[in-house]
Amino acid sequence: MKKLKQQDKAVYQAIQNEKKRQQEGMELIASENYVSDAVLEALGSVFTNKYSEGYPGKRYYGGQDFTDVVEDLAIERAKKLFKAQHVNVQPHSGAPANMIAYSALLKPGDKVMGMDLSHGGHLTHGHPVTLSAQIYNFVGYKTNDQGKIDYDALEKMARKEKPKLMLAGFSAYSRRINYRRFTQIAKKVGAISMIDIAHIAGLIAGKALVNPVPYFDIVTTTTHKTLRGPRGGMIMCKKKYARAIDKSAFPGFQGGPHMNNIAAKAVAFGEALEPSFKKYAEQILKNSKVLEMELKKYNFKIVFGKTENHMVLVDVFGSKGVTGKELEVALDKVGITLNKNVIPDDPRSPFDPSGVRIGVPAVTTRGMKEKDIVKIVGWINEVTENINDDKVLKGIRKEVIGFCKGFPLHK
Ligand SMILES: *Cc1c(COP(=O)(O)O)cnc(C)c1O
Repeated sequence: MKKLKQQDKAVYQAIQNEKKRQQEGMELIASENYVSDAVLEALGSVFTNKYSEGYPGKRYYGGQDFTDVVEDLAIERAKKLFKAQHVNVQPHSGAPANMIAYSALLKPGDKVMGMDLSHGGHLTHGHPVTLSAQIYNFVGYKTNDQGKIDYDALEKMARKEKPKLMLAGFSAYSRRINYRRFTQIAKKVGAISMIDIAHIAGLIAGKALVNPVPYFDIVTTTTHKTLRGPRGGMIMCKKKYARAIDKSAFPGFQGGPHMNNIAAKAVAFGEALEPSFKKYAEQILKNSKVLEMELKKYNFKIVFGKTENHMVLVDVFGSKGVTGKELEVALDKVGITLNKNVIPDDPRSPFDPSGVRIGVPAVTTRGMKEKDIVKIVGWINEVTENINDDKVLKGIRKEVIGFCKGFPLHK
């Protein structure tokens, strides 16, 4: 068989270019990471050829001896990592995992309380542009001036709204959530409790953050963010909801599971069970704290007051007069990648918002430590101060490439 390089030069070259871009750049997008070579190998395996609709032991096609092995491994390892009663590893990604959960638990028109997008929530938690928001009735709760969820206000709102489902979780929020209080409120108003841990799953697996899985009825996640696995989703739940979740995933929402992806999930969960992953999760928190402190030194305004996880949200327009988009574009020029982001009740548009989101999971995987974060924030500040000076930016680009050479990625 021909190698990709011989058969399809265009695709091969794009992959080589992407490899180089990843090697020579600094990845600060809070949702990204670098998988191990072992995870990549499993992803590119012959399991991609296999149809295996159904679940281990109960498939609709023959030839399932080895698909059952990898799916069972993924499930068992996830159960161990998160102390989950039931696990479904088939969701293709985070957004479908949420849709699967909603349709397992809700009827059209049912009410869901989720975190407001501009306060850190995710699109799939009720933004009007999503299909789920057309089907279900979402109401958003917000954070207070201290950057926290006001649980008394949340309880008041829950009593008034009487939601069927109360949803916690976020993609741009840097503080911890009081899981006990949140789920107590859900119980009081007779709502099912759900949390979407897409961003922090790796920090939980690495025991750097409290595990919410024992508290909540339903837990959804991605597997490719801090958890450092292949792109994918996963749902964990109490036994009581197992049948509903499984039926909703297949045949309700998806067809055949992506078995190569599930094999890679099993490999990633195996890695997360190793002691080295605990070190990784701890280092993320250390690096993130340095990121916050250094940014504060340069008078950047940290939204929500501080970070207690892997990321910070920075109000760059409020503190520096530079918009989130302007800074994202300028940093791209020097090879530092992050994303513009709205801040709570942002007066600016989502296309050119006030903030940027900065996360350290990827650079931590590369082996960067506190002193390296100090250096990165120095560059971010320099770019902010010289946003229109291409000569300065070019100089920083050279420094970034040189610096990244010291942290090699995939061979
Ligand atoms: C990233 C994310 C998702 C969506 O995951 P995809 O894999 O991009 O579909 C859902 N919820 C939260 C909280 C996320 O951060």
